[in-house]
Amino acid sequence: MNPRLLIALYLLIVLLPLGLSWAGERPPRSLWDELASGAGMLAFAIVLAEFLLSGRFRTVSNRIGMDVTMRFHQLLARSALALALVHPFLYSAPTKPAYPWDTTRQLTLSDDFSAYSTGLFAWLLLPVLVLLAIGRSRLDYRYETWRLMHGIGAALIAGLLLHHTLHAGRYSQDPLLAGVWKGLFEIALASLLFVYLVKPALKRLSPWVVERVRKVGLKTWEVTIAPQGHKGLRYQAGQFVWLNIGHGAASLAENPFSISSAPASGNRLQFIIKELGDFTRTVGDIAPGTRAHVDGPHGNLVVTGRKEPGIALIAGGVGIAPLIGILRQLHYEGDARPTTLVYGNRVAEQMACREELETLTREHGTRVVHALYEPPEGWTGRTGMCDGDLIREVFDSAEARQWLYVLCGPPAMMEVVETALIGMGVSAGQILSERFDYG
Ligand SMILES: Cc1cc2nc3c(=O)[nH]c(=O)nc-3n(C[C@H](O)[C@H](O)[C@H](O)COP(=O)(O)OP(=O)(O)OC[C@H]3O[C@@H](n4cnc5c(N)ncnc54)[C@H](O)[C@@H]3O)c2cc1C
Repeated sequence: MNPRLLIALYLLIVLLPLGLSWAGERPPRSLWDELASGAGMLAFAIVLAEFLLSGRFRTVSNRIGMDVTMRFHQLLARSALALALVHPFLYSAPTKPAYPWDTTRQLTLSDDFSAYSTGLFAWLLLPVLVLLAIGRSRLDYRYETWRLMHGIGAALIAGLLLHHTLHAGRYSQDPLLAGVWKGLFEIALASLLFVYLVKPALKRLSPWVVERVRKVGLKTWEVTIAPQGHKGLRYQAGQFVWLNIGHGAASLAENPFSISSAPASGNRLQFIIKELGDFTRTVGDIAPGTRAHVDGPHGNLVVTGRKEPGIALIAGGVGIAPLIGILRQLHYEGDARPTTLVYGNRVAEQMACREELETLTREHGTRVVHALYEPPEGWTGRTGMCDGDLIREVFDSAEARQWLYVLCGPPAMMEVVETALIGMGVSAGQILSERFDYG
């Protein structure tokens, strides 16, 4: 689906309840009361739309990119929180039984205590949900525990808000608007069921098995998995999957990893995985024959169809994973465009696929520029960070300004590189990037 269509669809979902309320024929109230209702409705609509921006829907994340999807998700959650927090304080009308002549509740707010209590619970829970998500990395939860709590918490808040909106909301007394709220709530719940029931069922039908695990660098492993009884995955070089190794298909124990193999190399999938936390530290112990499940492909770090006259790949550490997949695919396809890889690491032992990169230089003409922050004695490559100076040195030419730039590495490196590229006159549309952490 076209990204513009997606944005239009998003705006439609979020603004539809407000639009219907505005179009309804009810006598106007004070400005503050209208603002209060508007803020509440907008907050609820955003909360419901957040379920579709969870990063698990390829229609969304493959079009606008996983980073952008998650940034939207985070930004909109904060916006919904701000609107929800001010919502009760903006009302000026009193909470009272309706006057007999005021059938549209122009002058009083509903006095239904149960409707307020669900609103109050949601009002208290929403900041907790958002703050737990913002502070996730500082809390000592396993990622899977946090994800489960986040999903259950979001569903609970949505349910409470639906009750509050239908029973306390002045505009929701209109059957059409009430139907819209129920419909949006059902879509949100259906999206959860799709992620937690339908997807696992599909994964169970197409299992994978670990074929090989080998060390390719300091605390860095290459894992190869093969399809079991099915043709494999249709993907594009540079994309990623949620990978679950050694757990049931419905398990929440799955992590995102870029595919480092090339689609043209066959139906096996390869990953380059760096030890970081509880799962990745055990990768070296995974036995061949272990069952695996894959959800994907996701992401838009994809060069297929791009027409730029050259391709620059800039990797920091394990950020090489998707970029080597892209290089491999370009080589298989015999793509004649020039390619340059800038590959930054702290120490030489971290450099993965070193020999293969030499082969790519010989056979595909790829220029490889290694940069080491702590180089060994006798190192003849670049010393230091993969920073703006290095990028300007390698790419500052009229020709390279027309190239496509594909970035993957630590967030700080990507920021510096992007700033340098934009400063050199490379347009934002020529830069593709993927972060390995949603922050
Ligand atoms: C799009 C993408 C592609 C990635 N590709 C690679 C790759 O090719 N090679 C590689 O080594 N690493 C990659 N990563 C990072 C990798 O996912 C994490 O290092 C890994 O999940 C850590 O898991 P853990 O259990 O070992 O550590 P933990 O201590 O559990 O997690 C460390 C951090 O990793 C992140 N993380 C953990 N689990 C998940 C999850 N299920 N979903 C999202 N984030 C999670 C969280 O930010 C968490 O704080 C990628 C990340 C993303 C988002």
